[in-house]
Amino acid sequence: MTVLKNYINGQWVDSKGSEVLDVINPATGKSLTKVPAGSAIDIQDAAKAAHEAWSAWRNTPATQRVQYLYAMKQILEKHTDEIAEICTRECGKTYAESKAEMVRAVENIEVACGIPTLLQGEFSEDIARGVDEFMIRQPLGVGACISPFNFPIMIPFWFMPYAIACGNTYIVKPSEKVPMTMARIFELLESLHLPKGVLNMVHGGRETVDAILEHPFIPAISFVGSTPVARHVYQTGTAHGKRVQAQGGAKNAVVVMPDADEDTTVKIIADSAFGCAGQRCLAASVVITVGEASKKILEKLVVAARSRKTGDGMSPEVEMGPVITKESKDRIESLIQSGVDDGADLLLDGRNLKIADFENGYFVGPTILGNVNPESKAYQTEIFGPVLSVVHVETLDDAINLINSNKYGNSACLFTRSGAAARKFRHETMAGNIGVNIGVAAPMAFFPFSGWKESFFGDLHGQTSHAVEFYTQTKVVIERWNEEWTRKF
Ligand code: NAD
Repeated sequence: MTVLKNYINGQWVDSKGSEVLDVINPATGKSLTKVPAGSAIDIQDAAKAAHEAWSAWRNTPATQRVQYLYAMKQILEKHTDEIAEICTRECGKTYAESKAEMVRAVENIEVACGIPTLLQGEFSEDIARGVDEFMIRQPLGVGACISPFNFPIMIPFWFMPYAIACGNTYIVKPSEKVPMTMARIFELLESLHLPKGVLNMVHGGRETVDAILEHPFIPAISFVGSTPVARHVYQTGTAHGKRVQAQGGAKNAVVVMPDADEDTTVKIIADSAFGCAGQRCLAASVVITVGEASKKILEKLVVAARSRKTGDGMSPEVEMGPVITKESKDRIESLIQSGVDDGADLLLDGRNLKIADFENGYFVGPTILGNVNPESKAYQTEIFGPVLSVVHVETLDDAINLINSNKYGNSACLFTRSGAAARKFRHETMAGNIGVNIGVAAPMAFFPFSGWKESFFGDLHGQTSHAVEFYTQTKVVIERWNEEWTRKF
């Protein structure tokens, strides 16, 4: 079986590390290919190539740099079906979900095509007589992105198009669980004929990440993944004097008010909780029902969840694929048990699900735990699977307090017909992405992806102007030009 290669300095090269890992199709449990476990030397090679390419790239006008992005958008759009299929095979999500992910990636390229405008500086004339002051943005050097398994296509595009459009060179480190999608994207991007070293890809896991965090040629790092690793990346990267933006895990609540439209609410919550098998950092994982809302929606929610068709993501009728690994399935199932042991009602049990012809796949069916104790492990932990916990409270204030007492702050949503409740919720809730009658409050590419609390370490988020600010440094220039000097010559 072949081992995936790294893409460094415009060449496909073998990793200099000796260890390899299997890339598994989670629907079948079978190996698809092998990926290097990575080595620090691979990062040294990529950083050197990117560093050497930087000077010429930063001196290429922004208007020319974005021409590559226009072409990149067209390449991705042309190959959407093929890339989406690879994504589904290694990641497990449905083919429709993979295609939707592709749209989000392309959206970021489109926004980054506006770099000539986004990069514009500021100018103040006559700060003193004959003296002007202005601020320009300049690229930092080599940037790197370290991405998680759950969005193999989209997440590098929250950062990479902006970074290179701003004049940085770049290294993408895909998740070792799903490396094939980005490997294929890089094969396709070869036809852009970017100058060698501008865009590089290095496979690997922990050792590769640690080498990025310590390398002196890499001043800016974007990370997306679980909170413990995000914290490690942030602390180690900043201790080495780097800029780091590290997006972490989540425990997202949706609050249902008694006046919410029942059928719409139930459908949206089920899609949010069970789409991508619950492996979305914006997935609803807790429903907080307020007052009479519990009676109105709970039974309907169980019916909607039970009717969801689980199976291989390539089957057109399937609405939910497997979870990523056997370890993930075991962890999710043990958290369901711990919820039950701590007193929750098992309203729907997705454990022990067998899918015909896919007996070795890592499937967990939709699961709903009722009356979950907010102090319990099942409530406090990011389960990252198709498990929805339900908690009942009496008032909107109680619901907001419960959300605000959680250590995560990625997203929170409210279902209501009341504008006043919606306003109070958006004003008081301590989370960075808020939805009102929305189940997955995923910011479009022209807004920052705003996690809070332990869902984010750093200052500037991914996407749009935040990515531009992150991947540039400001330079302020003060100039004096006296008119009489001109008259002398
Ligand atoms: P993960 O933290 O296990 O891995 C993320 C990346 O870090 C991978 O590239 C991996 O190779 C690397 N890594 C893993 N362990 C490491 C270690 N000990 N030291 C250094 N590097 C290490 O995350 P995952 O399981 O791939 O992804 C799921 C997690 O990502 C969930 O917690 C989810 O909430 C989170 N996520 C967050 C967002 C967001 O925007 N906040 C988006 C998507 C996913």
